[in-house]
Amino acid sequence: MCSVLRLHIRCTVASELAERPHHIATEAYSAPMARLSDSDVLNTLERYGFSDEELTPWRGEHPDPWDTYRFEITNPDAFGGDDPAWSDDARGDWERLGQNIFEQSGQPGQLPSREQTEQQPPVGAVEELAWYLPFHYAGPDWGIYITEAGVIDTARRIKKRLGGGCSDPRETKELCQVALFILYFHEAFHHKVESFATRLEIARQKRVYIPYDQNVYRQLLSTNHILEEAYACFEMHSRLRGEKRFHGQVSSKIKEAALQFLKDWIPTLPPGYNRGLNVGELELLKLMSQIADGQEKPLQNPEDWKIANHMIRGLFKMEFAVRILVPRGATPQIPWSDGTRNLAIPFRKIKRHITRDIGYKETKRGKGSHRVYRCAGRPDITLPYGQESLSPKVQKQVARALGYENIRDLAANC
Ligand SMILES: [Zn+2]
Repeated sequence: MCSVLRLHIRCTVASELAERPHHIATEAYSAPMARLSDSDVLNTLERYGFSDEELTPWRGEHPDPWDTYRFEITNPDAFGGDDPAWSDDARGDWERLGQNIFEQSGQPGQLPSREQTEQQPPVGAVEELAWYLPFHYAGPDWGIYITEAGVIDTARRIKKRLGGGCSDPRETKELCQVALFILYFHEAFHHKVESFATRLEIARQKRVYIPYDQNVYRQLLSTNHILEEAYACFEMHSRLRGEKRFHGQVSSKIKEAALQFLKDWIPTLPPGYNRGLNVGELELLKLMSQIADGQEKPLQNPEDWKIANHMIRGLFKMEFAVRILVPRGATPQIPWSDGTRNLAIPFRKIKRHITRDIGYKETKRGKGSHRVYRCAGRPDITLPYGQESLSPKVQKQVARALGYENIRDLAANC
């Protein structure tokens, strides 16, 4: 092979890698610093003792009782392709969903029953529909989780503002898309908060996120003073209004109906959340001081952060890595693109299955980015640590080691 061709292939592979989810940070960084992976973050935080997977305060529910579908929300193909009428099957699915959304548009939402835990989100909070699990607590399971029922419930409420008769497949698809964007914007802000705290931790070499979470967030939740939730609600409205790469995917009348819905809905949310339309830069800067100081009344002047406001960008482009949750074993109601292909088994589930159900034990080999598991009479299993879900290749290897026919069987047993 000539060297020019080899170079071209190498460059192509490198650029594909660079575009992979979870391997790029924000545009603010340039290669090769750009390659930030989940395991870089998790291992560094673990080494310094900044994370604590034993502490599990309610930031969101672990995804165990759900089937998880990974979803790239800015990729129109991920939504079943550009044209919802591309096949009879898909058209039928969209028509049924459109009927359901139309008939229920005036009804109260029907959310799936949730696992009862000691700590719950405030009643009526956005976190009943979607949540963000921070990497400081959730390790490889961190990320944005959005329930499919939450998307459909939000789409119904937007349809109520939109009016008109039963939606055709295109309108139904756009209603679901805009609903998904709204929930995503809220949860993406929680990732920005954790990213900001993490940058401070690295610069100062001391804990920031957990003290803020324990001493400020948890103390103020359900009160008017919870700035993180107020600003997360602000972002639902401001990002939908301002970011064309999102609202450009739906018609202007659906965008307007969604903005109207937010104007009506946000003031009805629990205390703090309900200030979402009335906060702005001042509150964001004060929140940054609260995070930096770990107290409600920070000593640091909020104005300082005007110089460093870019520090509250996300470490990762979360739009590539949203997970949609469907009750375990249920068929998704929204015709997302190929559901099987997107079925992602979380690291945690596979680890629990091989250690608890099969008898594998973690060996001392493979600290860092990999964990090696051993069980007499079976092949060793190596799992990449720090990825919230495992690649099809790794899932296939695990399925083979355990004697399953395929990934589906593995997923059903995890
Ligand atoms: Zn929230």
